[in-house]
Amino acid sequence: MVPKYHIKPDGSLGKKNDVVCTGVEHKMGIHGSPTCSLSFGDNNECLGWLMGKEREGMKIMFQMMNEARLQCSNQALALSSSAYLHSVSYAKNRKQMPHVMKLQDPGAPSVAIIEHPDVKRMLLLQKANVEAMRMATYLTGYNLDVAHSSEGEKAKEAEALVEFMIPICKAGNSDLAWEMTSEAIQVYGGYGFCCDYPVEQLARDAKILSLYEGTNGIQSIDLITRKLLMNRDQYNYNVFKKRIQKTIEEAKGVVDYKYISPLVRGIDKMDELIDVLMKNLASGRLMQIFISATPVRQAMTMLAHAWLHLWSMVLCSKKMKELVGPLKGEERDKFIHENNEAAFYSGKVLASQYYVGAYFQNYFGKIESILAEETAIIKSTDAIFTGAPEE
Ligand SMILES: Cc1cc2nc3c(=O)[nH]c(=O)nc-3n(C[C@H](O)[C@H](O)[C@H](O)COP(=O)(O)OP(=O)(O)OC[C@H]3O[C@@H](n4cnc5c(N)ncnc54)[C@H](O)[C@@H]3O)c2cc1C
Repeated sequence: MVPKYHIKPDGSLGKKNDVVCTGVEHKMGIHGSPTCSLSFGDNNECLGWLMGKEREGMKIMFQMMNEARLQCSNQALALSSSAYLHSVSYAKNRKQMPHVMKLQDPGAPSVAIIEHPDVKRMLLLQKANVEAMRMATYLTGYNLDVAHSSEGEKAKEAEALVEFMIPICKAGNSDLAWEMTSEAIQVYGGYGFCCDYPVEQLARDAKILSLYEGTNGIQSIDLITRKLLMNRDQYNYNVFKKRIQKTIEEAKGVVDYKYISPLVRGIDKMDELIDVLMKNLASGRLMQIFISATPVRQAMTMLAHAWLHLWSMVLCSKKMKELVGPLKGEERDKFIHENNEAAFYSGKVLASQYYVGAYFQNYFGKIESILAEETAIIKSTDAIFTGAPEE
């Protein structure tokens, strides 16, 4: 702790401490939060106090890192959610070109761009990912509380889930915040790039999230080493898997099996991948493990998000049944259009169906790409990256 002023023995303020701000950083975003360079002790008169014991700084820092990283994922969620909602408003108002089903009709009027299939895809992609980010953040926050407030097996499991989910939330949400704010810009077209509308600022503000509180590369290494492969009996992963299996059981008979089977196959594939990684660890093929850290963390994030979407689908499908009853076809559409609650739950179910039924299919490609054990990265020495400017 380095105070701004020296403190006299009687507790009153003395002269200014020997610490000065030597510059304010000019950043691409978060302009509301100043970042500066400080210079300590230029005149050998800087007084500071060590918090805790010598050489225990890192250990002490980690007492607050789970919360700090979860706050980072919360910030990623807030920026992405805001960008998504702004892009929905814009898409409902901006008119451009006739509906795709009326393209042959020269007199057909322009429609709001939300009517165009590709725009709807961008909006549902954002909605599904934002909702996954929200579920992952809240679930982890809830389990942090459970770990603090309960005892025995319950506390142990909650702690394991938190440990496992923190890098997934921090790195997963911050990667997605950059992607989803970019998607929101895309919905706006050219105006998305202009400061007249809010989404470009949200994208600039989001980029820092993959960097601070431990870069996402470091989060990935933390997940694959400490939290997964070197975690005794893979307890963390087994708790995570147990929760997914519980949701799978609850989903049977409630949602169509085509939304359950990707999770069943997803766990099998992850088990297969972990087996390969463990063999690499046992045989000292560490390079293979470290080049896989980020892809494994990305795949694990998708598995977590697909699980949470299935869980949501179970709850929201039941609620939809209660609200809509036996209505079908146009009658059902009309009811949803006129009833806010039904529209809300219908949107939840559709976002989850999109995530598990379509988006999550990318997970299997990601796993295959890791299992391929391509060694090009390992073989790439610094010499092959030619053409870079001398610095
Ligand atoms: C706006 C802003 C505010 C900040 N606020 C704070 C603050 O309040 N408190 C604070 O303590 N810090 C703060 N930071 C610092 C921030 O936490 C660091 O910038 C961040 O941890 C990355 O460290 P670095 O910049 O030294 O990057 P480097 O460590 O040089 O990393 C550069 C790249 O190399 C990768 N890399 C580095 N080492 C490894 C490795 N062993 N294996 C694989 N990849 C690796 C990284 O993932 C990254 O992609 C702030 C930074 C910014 C930009």
